Amino acid sequence: MKIIMLGAPGAGKGTQAKRIAEKYAIPHISTGDIFRANIKNNTELGQKAKTYMDKGELVPDELVVDLIMDRFKEADCANGYVLDGFPRTIPQAEALDKALSANNESVDFAINVEVPDENIINRMSGRRACVGCGATYHIQFNPTKVEGICDACGEKLILRDDDKPETVKNRLSVYHDQTQPLIDYYSKKGILAEVDGTQSMEDVFNSIVNVLGK
Ligand code: ADP
Ligand code: ADP
Ligand code: ZN
Repeated sequence: MKIIMLGAPGAGKGTQAKRIAEKYAIPHISTGDIFRANIKNNTELGQKAKTYMDKGELVPDELVVDLIMDRFKEADCANGYVLDGFPRTIPQAEALDKALSANNESVDFAINVEVPDENIINRMSGRRACVGCGATYHIQFNPTKVEGICDACGEKLILRDDDKPETVKNRLSVYHDQTQPLIDYYSKKGILAEVDGTQSMEDVFNSIVNVLGK
């Protein structure tokens, strides 16, 4: 099964993708996580990506497409994947379709997690990410057992630089300009499913399972 998660920054794509990956035994591929790992390891790709990410802008399409095509070659992708944060532009979606159709394959579901802009700033300012394993929490909606410490690995939590309100505003406008058109793109293909992302994490997941099937 090949699944795409759509939605504004902070809509809950990562939270849900993680659970989908567990339930359907497919890898969760987050381009944001891959870039952050490259930044942490100070690779050339990481250095390039950082200049865009810090401003809340998108990393150029060709960098992202090359990276994702390499990732698909790994053995764990044999039965599909859930993509979180890719595609984010029409050219990225077209590159994905082209690569898949060359193998007679296609995306099965594009799930749009809908959350209005006014909820997003709160979601992002309360988001905390683990520096060790990348797990995501929320100070109000999904707190850790011990404040500031990751439940999964014990490392410390941070507020991502790009989750500060100034950058979030820019990321939202980039989302509306460049990523929102994908909703129409996948709707026309007949594979779009809309899910109300303002529900509890549990209810959002149940709505997604209703679409994907048990
Ligand atoms: P969020 O989950 O909050 O939407 P991500 O972790 O997916 O954020 O992405 C963080 C940043 O990484 C983006 O603001 C962008 O700069 C970059 N990025 C991630 N995926 C892509 C992509 N497919 N195309 C371009 N830039 C990307
Ligand atoms: P995205 O990957 O779309 O950027 P995340 O999954 O990282 O979004 O979620 C953004 C923030 O909102 C995180 O702090 C997460 O814990 C929290 N969150 C996710 N889903 C919900 C929900 N349904 N209700 C309340 N908070 C949520
Ligand atoms: Zn951790």
